[in-house]
Amino acid sequence: MLSDAFGDEAGVTLIEKGDSFLFGYSKLDVLFGASVDDLSLPYSAFAKPGVRLARETVTAIDAEARRVTTDRGEYEADHLVVALGADYDYEATPGLTEADVFYSRAGAARLAGEIGSFVTGHAVIGVCGVPYKCTPAPSECALLLHADLVRRGVRDDCRITYIVPQPNPVPPAPDAAAAVLQAFAERDIEFVPGRRIASLDRERRLVVLDDGTEVAYDLFLGVPTHCAPEAVVAAGLAVDGYIPVDPGTLETRHPGVYALGDCAAVGVPKAGAFAEGAGRAVASRLIAAIRGEPIPNPYCGVGACYIEFGAGLVGRVNIDAGGGKPSGTFSGPSEELAADKREFGDSRRARWFGL
Ligand SMILES: Cc1cc2nc3c(=O)[nH]c(=O)nc-3n(C[C@H](O)[C@H](O)[C@H](O)COP(=O)(O)OP(=O)(O)OC[C@H]3O[C@@H](n4cnc5c(N)ncnc54)[C@H](O)[C@@H]3O)c2cc1C
Repeated sequence: MLSDAFGDEAGVTLIEKGDSFLFGYSKLDVLFGASVDDLSLPYSAFAKPGVRLARETVTAIDAEARRVTTDRGEYEADHLVVALGADYDYEATPGLTEADVFYSRAGAARLAGEIGSFVTGHAVIGVCGVPYKCTPAPSECALLLHADLVRRGVRDDCRITYIVPQPNPVPPAPDAAAAVLQAFAERDIEFVPGRRIASLDRERRLVVLDDGTEVAYDLFLGVPTHCAPEAVVAAGLAVDGYIPVDPGTLETRHPGVYALGDCAAVGVPKAGAFAEGAGRAVASRLIAAIRGEPIPNPYCGVGACYIEFGAGLVGRVNIDAGGGKPSGTFSGPSEELAADKREFGDSRRARWFGL
């Protein structure tokens, strides 16, 4: 948006350590056999007037001075937007490694191999801590696993259990939660709410829940505990885990320093749809401030997430987290919403990467 507004004069530096972008939901595609390379969008294709992409790693942030240090240099900013996402804290769950989770590219790719050879036994999908990205994603994992096992003709030989600390699969949206629970019941997927994966014993192939219950597994598909990136913590920006911001402006307690997406604590779910909306809100604000125009309406905290039900059917939950307590409405699974989701991805790929 800054590039659209100011063209070559935008003066934006985008610092990114990775060499490609992968939609969060693409990790589920990878888990069920797609290749990371095929789905990755290379940052080398990112070219916008007035935006310089610095392929560097942020090592320190001085919020007071709006100064960012990277492994290659130092940047001073008039406006600083911190959008470093959430990292994974494997040490928070004894025994857990990246190899056990489908929330990272490498983990999803490795577990795809295990799923491919899983033909009998107990599959456990388990969440190690809240909050975690995309609340419905582990439910989608269970439903997609069911569909995959049915397709391979081995579903009757396998048991699927999903364990999560929350009371239901989509807490802000009762209709979506009810639809997911009904889908679990119809597919014989066992749902264990209110419990967290406390540790994992790979040798004995069991997970231990936070109440001490041991659950044996043949295939474990984990969601790790999340945390703010190290650079955010070291900068003293995080309070109780993530970066507090003014919910209307997304500005931190440091003037001219904003935080958005998964690294911010703003009361919205950790999801790409919300990160995108927050990015738009901050960009609108900066454009108005630079042009001396009236400041736009406060950030509204709304977003939509698609939910894969398997066999090509997708539902959608619209979340409104603007008023403090998130609430949601649900559209049931259909092929039309599957097409909508494809259009969602295609439009972002074209806009962001010109691909
Ligand atoms: C399995 C799964 C399914 C999901 N499904 C959905 C879905 O259907 N819909 C939805 O809306 N969301 C979904 N999500 C969540 C979504 O992917 C994230 O919430 C979203 O990507 C958050 O955006 P962000 O910009 O805050 O963080 P990120 O997308 O993580 O971006 C942060 C960027 O900062 C970079 N970075 C981090 N540290 C540094 C550093 N020190 N120096 C330089 N660069 C750095 C990273 O490389 C990264 O590119 C899903 C996530 C998962 C794991």
